[in-house]
Amino acid sequence: MSLTLDEARLRAGALSSLSYSLDLDLTGLDTFRSHTRVRFRSTEAETFLELKGALSVSTVVNGEAVEAAYDGGRVALTGLSTDEVNAVEVIATLPYTTDGDGMHTFTDPADGSRYVSAYLGMDNASKVFACFDQNDLKASFAVSVTADPADTVLANGAVVSRDAGRWVFAPTPPIPPALLVVAAGRWHSVRWSHEGLEFGWHARRSLAAELDRDAAELRRTTEACFAHYADLIDEPYPFDSYDQVFVPGLNWGAQEMPGCVTYRDELLPRGAITDTQRAIRAVIIAHEMSHMWFGDSMTMTWWEDTWLQESFADYMGYRVAEAGAGFADLRVEVEVRSKPWGYRSDARRSTHPVAPLATDVPDVDTAATIFDGISYAKGGACLVQLAFWLGDEEFMAGVNRHLTRFRFANATLDDFVESLAAGSSKDVRGWVDAWLRRPGFDTLTVRRSGDVPVLEREGSRPHAFTVAAYDSALRLVGRKRVELGAEPVRLPEFAGLVVVPNAGGETFAGLRLDPESWGSLSGGLSRIEDPLVRAVLWSSAALLVRSRDLSADDFLDLVEAHLPTETRPDIIEGVLSEARSVVIPHRVPAARAAGAVARVAAAAAAGLKASTDDDEQRALAWAAALAATSADAGLLRGWLDDDRIAAGVPVLPTTRWEAVVRLASLGEADARFIAAERDRDGTVEGDLGALRALAARPSTIAKEAAWEAMLAPDVDNRRFGALASGLWVAEQAHLLRPYVEAYLAEAPKLATRGQAFAQEVGRAFPRIALDPEQLDGLRAALADGVPTILRRSWEDHFDDRA
Ligand SMILES: [Zn+2]
Repeated sequence: MSLTLDEARLRAGALSSLSYSLDLDLTGLDTFRSHTRVRFRSTEAETFLELKGALSVSTVVNGEAVEAAYDGGRVALTGLSTDEVNAVEVIATLPYTTDGDGMHTFTDPADGSRYVSAYLGMDNASKVFACFDQNDLKASFAVSVTADPADTVLANGAVVSRDAGRWVFAPTPPIPPALLVVAAGRWHSVRWSHEGLEFGWHARRSLAAELDRDAAELRRTTEACFAHYADLIDEPYPFDSYDQVFVPGLNWGAQEMPGCVTYRDELLPRGAITDTQRAIRAVIIAHEMSHMWFGDSMTMTWWEDTWLQESFADYMGYRVAEAGAGFADLRVEVEVRSKPWGYRSDARRSTHPVAPLATDVPDVDTAATIFDGISYAKGGACLVQLAFWLGDEEFMAGVNRHLTRFRFANATLDDFVESLAAGSSKDVRGWVDAWLRRPGFDTLTVRRSGDVPVLEREGSRPHAFTVAAYDSALRLVGRKRVELGAEPVRLPEFAGLVVVPNAGGETFAGLRLDPESWGSLSGGLSRIEDPLVRAVLWSSAALLVRSRDLSADDFLDLVEAHLPTETRPDIIEGVLSEARSVVIPHRVPAARAAGAVARVAAAAAAGLKASTDDDEQRALAWAAALAATSADAGLLRGWLDDDRIAAGVPVLPTTRWEAVVRLASLGEADARFIAAERDRDGTVEGDLGALRALAARPSTIAKEAAWEAMLAPDVDNRRFGALASGLWVAEQAHLLRPYVEAYLAEAPKLATRGQAFAQEVGRAFPRIALDPEQLDGLRAALADGVPTILRRSWEDHFDDRA
């Protein structure tokens, strides 16, 4: 059972003055040894430490060895002093994991090197050491680690000493147990000093060439973001060093561990890195760096305030990567990728206020479900709106008051509102109530009174945004800031013109345009000069498909008509992702899926043709899409043989695997062919690509083998994900019928392995059209006992198809 809010409140009320010393021995091959010493004051004689899955436990309380009750999840502590400081020692033997929760091990097939890293967050700290695992029991941690003498060990604090395989790290400032990190292995490292601080980027030894390729840019981005935060934020950087590590098998995009950020190592791609990948990676770098203040120094008290960390980091990530590190027009990416995720999440039954009540998050398993499109995408968009509505100076002044008040402490929504309201004459509390305390989103509508556009709001929130006006040739004629509340806003100065509200993407709302404006725009979308307006319109079109105001065919018409001439790779990739992973599986019946995929392939072929000669970045985006959708086996085989798409356009390793998987799904790549590709690749990505391709083959034998492999008790998170992504092919719905049933029957059992694996099982949901009978099957399965995290995922999948 995960920790409950009530337990956390009681324990936070009883304990104080905590500090830990932690000694980890990672030299064992099958298990590791964890030795925790924790000192604390308590007003109660009894409490408990979390410790999950230990194989052996011995406990010493205030100098005396005790037979503490251990139930596999908690160590009961009794006879504590309520006057003196208590000293508790727990020595435990624990298993390694392969699912990205806890002490994760990975052996690199490229060179046999073994990596051992503690991936914590949520309530995984207790899979590594005994602790009071909650955000508001912060403590200083003094960490030492014994590892293979050939390994480098990275952790939150700076290295104090290193002797053979034993590493001692400087004690941290007060942080929650969940933010600890240890990463041991043959890291290839790039280190430097800057502004009196030690910095480093690290990656697996087999990714040394990739790290070296990108090292200059990674360093430049890190320093630029660091400098920009120094300008924006009054509090100095809170920790003693700043390492960033590309680690294997991480479940998150990255984790904001104080002084030592971890990134999933897919962010260091082989071959070339595209401009879109570079921009997204810079946003993640800036996102994680913002957490050093938003989350690591100022930490939420309980999980209802996840937004106080993730929404701010989402907002700051884009802002600082653009203004600080110089990646231009990142709001485009927000519109085509992030906000559609937010809208989709906000239209499901599982939606919740950006800032829910604490009682709506009764335990940590529930907390694991709110790291979602609301806490990131919508929350970030709300902060864009807040800064625009308040004015940036006032917004940042309030944010700084908050970060300074709660340095190395815990805070809540009320604290934040107090910090913000202290310097504002506006109704901040009213704004927070409308935007952060209520789920759902408004729709901005345009109607005509004569030929004068009139803006109205369906909903209840105050909005501030830009309206852009265009003539009949879609040339920009004017722009205007508008505040829209309950009263309609007439725009006589834009009479007779095409108008687009929210042209700067400032607010979070759907758009319903008047027929004149929509007619002109859907006929000439690619002619709009401003990419941000194009992105807003694409995102609105996707939302109209969701609400069934626009058919999937109409959306694919737009894709075929306008996307091939789109000049921005991020828009191309965002729209194609929406078409392939949302519109087709959710809105196209299985019998017509092949035709819909063929339409995407036709757009991709046209786009590739239009960009091959003059724009490598666009060509790479189109090639990846065509590799995944083309039915032309000869074309794809030609790419593999030549290892290039056209002169000057290489086949990137990820695109190569897309092509192999596609050939396999078409019945054009057998096991020998796939094995040869895997051997040619020789990396873990090659292993995963081959698993995916084998699973994609259109035969019952292949599907059965993939499904069996997914059920294996020791399957790791990456292999499970690769198998699922190969198994479900949009055009194979008939072949896959038995596996939809099998999935619904087996998934609840698989989802008991842990929070992250449960999420992986949820992501493995059939990525194909489901007929009414199959949806009934899902409804029936939901009526049975389904673990919290999987239930949330299934309800979301159901609602997306409703
Ligand atoms: Zn984050």
